[in-house]
Amino acid sequence: TITSIKDAIEFAREQGAIMADLKFMDFLGTWQHLTIPTHRLDEELFEDGLGFDGSSLRAWQPIHASDMQLRPDPTSARMDPFCREPTVSFICNVFDPITGQPYSRDPRYIAQKAENYLKTTGIADTAYFGPEAEFFIFDDIRYSTATQHSFYKVDSVEGAWNTGRDEGPNLGYKPALKGGYFPVAPNDSLHDLRTEMSLVLEQCGVEVDVHHHEVATGGQSEIGIRFNSLVRMADDLQWFKYVIKNVARRHNKTVTFMPKPLHGDNGSGMHTHMSLWKGNQPLFAGEGYAGMSELGLQFIAGILHHARALTALTNPTTNSFKRLVPGYEAPIRLAYSSRNRSAAVRIPTYASSPKARRMEFRTPDASANGYLAFAAMLMAGLDGIEKQMDPGAPLDKDIYNLPPEELARVPSAPANLEEAMVALAEDHEFLLRGDVFTEDAVEAWISYKMEKEIQPSHLHPTPLEFAMYFD
Ligand code: GLN
Ligand code: MG
Ligand code: MG
Ligand code: MG
Repeated sequence: TITSIKDAIEFAREQGAIMADLKFMDFLGTWQHLTIPTHRLDEELFEDGLGFDGSSLRAWQPIHASDMQLRPDPTSARMDPFCREPTVSFICNVFDPITGQPYSRDPRYIAQKAENYLKTTGIADTAYFGPEAEFFIFDDIRYSTATQHSFYKVDSVEGAWNTGRDEGPNLGYKPALKGGYFPVAPNDSLHDLRTEMSLVLEQCGVEVDVHHHEVATGGQSEIGIRFNSLVRMADDLQWFKYVIKNVARRHNKTVTFMPKPLHGDNGSGMHTHMSLWKGNQPLFAGEGYAGMSELGLQFIAGILHHARALTALTNPTTNSFKRLVPGYEAPIRLAYSSRNRSAAVRIPTYASSPKARRMEFRTPDASANGYLAFAAMLMAGLDGIEKQMDPGAPLDKDIYNLPPEELARVPSAPANLEEAMVALAEDHEFLLRGDVFTEDAVEAWISYKMEKEIQPSHLHPTPLEFAMYFD
């Protein structure tokens, strides 16, 4: 393991790296990078960092204060398998060169502060996260001649809006709508591709648990990876997306983590499993409902209490809310249950050993910035513990089919991104504790989303509007 600058430089040399790739997370949730020859990789670079223009990145610095600095985290060293020349890769923290302080809108810094805050509460010393980021694999439009992936077109079939795809009769063993979970080959034509993705993930230090086709047609897939502590997991999640997209590209396929690419079929979630540990004690195991401890149930109560605000960070795109509709295994109602997959929080019943006891928050999707989403979830859960919140009674029924009078008592996720932003604007005290999120970071998030995503989505004519109103 690499714990120091020396180790990192040594690792680069052993691996024969001639280039060092400096990756960092932008505010919205996309990796950016700069590359330097390894002869520049010395103590000084790790300590003083490398300058870049922070004004060219979304929602960061204004043009008159644009100088920013990247400092590579030596412990994040891995070889990047997608470069032709041997290249060592580092994930960087972002600093303000004037003050020499970490940048308040650096998502990784916010995640680091959340981990530190957890320790200062004395409640636990480690929070584990296990996200299940589902995704679709499509034929790369640029290479595909056989099928036109026209999911951006909308046709009317038998009076209903179909998936928007226009592929003719199914002569090719393609899984039907919601029929993808999980038949063997030849229906599952992506098995080898997922295996290759899994092998490259392991090569990059991301341990794989399982891979399978998911419920939707169109190559919806899942590769389960091993849980990790908050910042490490957010790092791993970024490697995960990077590896999956780049392996797909090798085979002229394209991958999307967008939550709802196809109307009428399952969307892609990022269910996130969480647990707290102190020393080697799992704190969620106990004698309460579904084998949870009181502390575990308070954590769930905190998540549910702040869930509407949380969605602004865990489901941060206009498309996210097209997934959170009834009938597609995505939760809309903010309730908890063991087993019940229509509830926002589930306590997995197969987690029978105390060490595996955990809660699963099913609302998030992979359009989230992992650092911000995990940090926010932790802060919400901790608020539940600190205020000794009670999650109320579990909801063990199928919520999609609940009678309206019962349904009226269960709060819902926001209907759209704008509602989520309003919820966050009204409820974010819990994020500011310990200066984990700053008021500035929360405001920057809300105003970027309002101005650059929500308002434009109201102004653009859409394919559906053409289908409904053209004639
Ligand atoms: N795709 C579903 C979602 O949107 C989850 C399906 C599953 O993992 N069983 O959350
Ligand atoms: Mg899964
Ligand atoms: Mg799944
Ligand atoms: Mg799950």
